[in-house]
Amino acid sequence: MRDGAKRSEEVLVFGLLGNPVGHSLSPKMHRAAFQAMGIEAEYVAFPVVNLEQAVTGIRGLGIRGASVTIPFKEEIISLMDKVDRVASVIGAVNTLVNDQGVLTGTNTDWLGLKRALESRISIRGRRVAILGAGGAARAAVYGVMAGGGEPILLNRTPQRAMRAARDLGCGWALWEGLGDLNAHVLVNATPAGMSPRGDECPVEPELLSRFHLVVDMVYNPLRTRLLEEAEARGVGTMNGVEMLVQQGAEQIRIWTGMEPPIQIMRKAVIEALGGEDED
Ligand code: NAP
Repeated sequence: MRDGAKRSEEVLVFGLLGNPVGHSLSPKMHRAAFQAMGIEAEYVAFPVVNLEQAVTGIRGLGIRGASVTIPFKEEIISLMDKVDRVASVIGAVNTLVNDQGVLTGTNTDWLGLKRALESRISIRGRRVAILGAGGAARAAVYGVMAGGGEPILLNRTPQRAMRAARDLGCGWALWEGLGDLNAHVLVNATPAGMSPRGDECPVEPELLSRFHLVVDMVYNPLRTRLLEEAEARGVGTMNGVEMLVQQGAEQIRIWTGMEPPIQIMRKAVIEALGGEDED
């Protein structure tokens, strides 16, 4: 256990800052992890009304760490005492660590995506088309670059893709140019297709056959229309579960300094989504 992370008989409190948070799987995933690790800890989903006051509350209540989700990943940066390099380059914090009153923001989404991709393919030298230009897309760019791949950003609003590409030092293309792009993998980092808009497909299905692997960061539903259309064309697919689990596992490592029970975390997420664990 990390220094100062546990005083005797004390229940550690971790949380999720977002709004809404009712549908988040993080509480189930992290509680399952803490239980399996024998750590006495609570993980509470906080629907944040005022972010600044919530961050003050973290200090005041001695909450040891938090996950940060929509819509606060960017806004929370200015409220941290420190932001590590990776989170500042990505421009989004999804993980907060409270080290005796000093709040540090970091990001584990990039590693979640990198590990998820690497569980299926080698990224090195491969071109990866990424749809979106928000925090998740920027994290994906960072993760692909860290794995030696070549990310290309495409966003509905091209100015955002251009800005993100400039910040991160990667290429970008017009949304309409997807059909001309020669890429190995397609990653959807937009919410298109997410429940309740499950029938939405972010791109023309006909374009999917040009990729070897189509990855959807969306995990609810487990099989989005994008993945169904890719599958129908014989293309490999991966939903957002593995990224979610891997980014959460990294949070557990950061908060506790211990190895997370990834299998148990994965099982908790898949069960909560009504799917069946393949392992
Ligand atoms: P965000 O900051 O709100 O960005 C959303 C992006 O999606 C924007 O670039 C937006 O384009 C684009 N977009 C929205 N609706 C679209 C549509 N119908 N068609 C095409 N583009 C659309 O969100 P985010 O934080 O980056 O998250 C994006 C998605 O990734 C969410 O679904 C989130 O749940 C998921 N995610 C999953 C994981 C995981 O662990 N699996 C982790 C992080 C995020 P404009 O700029 O044109 O508005």
